[in-house]
Amino acid sequence: MTRGWMDGIEHIESLAVGYSDVPAGSMLPLAVMSHIMQGYQRTMIQWAQERPPATQKSAHFSIGRDGRIVQHASIFTPTWTAGRVNAPTWALLPAGANPNKHIVGIEHEGFSEEPSTYGHDYIYDDEHPWSDAMVLATGAVHEWIFEQVPLLVPSEDTVIGHFMVDASTRSNDPGDQWPRQKIIDWLAPTQTGKPEPLSTLQLIRYALSGSAHVNDMHFTPEPYPTDRPGREYHRLDIPRRQQ
Ligand SMILES: [Zn+2]
Repeated sequence: MTRGWMDGIEHIESLAVGYSDVPAGSMLPLAVMSHIMQGYQRTMIQWAQERPPATQKSAHFSIGRDGRIVQHASIFTPTWTAGRVNAPTWALLPAGANPNKHIVGIEHEGFSEEPSTYGHDYIYDDEHPWSDAMVLATGAVHEWIFEQVPLLVPSEDTVIGHFMVDASTRSNDPGDQWPRQKIIDWLAPTQTGKPEPLSTLQLIRYALSGSAHVNDMHFTPEPYPTDRPGREYHRLDIPRRQQ
């Protein structure tokens, strides 16, 4: 049961996982796929808690803007995170395959484009980048996954985005603020000129510490942007948009 589950983080298991030909616990991941939710982490947690699972969507991890990391499935169990294929550009995707049977999926909280069904506070752009807490948390999760699966070698074929299997409806997933190169650099520290990686422990400790221990990291988090009057990030009970 604990195989493929990351220690030191929350586990909220989804039952919306698995395939008859790749049952739970039997998947060999070929890549880690990042997503943007176009929504909030709380929704991922609600879906994962459904018994029986009514929503046919899942991912291995969800990560909040505040750095909260929740794992929803073993990394050796396929989730239902990217089943549709449209004009794929991911070189390692086997011909005709369902990507879900070959990837670990990470959902990140927030919006890279105007959402169709949610109210939202802000959309990631140059003035509203991913929070440092979310970047560090996804770095920690990637580092742990790559440690668990020694066959994974950091590259643009193994640190991938949803747009690489669905260039049509997911072209902004995870969007242009996705810190892909930073993640690859953390995973591949031996190349000349690349920054030293933070240790997994250090990253997790930061991600879980919130503001209480940030001084340990010599790091001051930016406040969430509040330039859109009437909206604030921590008000998660956002009503559905009226049509
Ligand atoms: Zn996605």
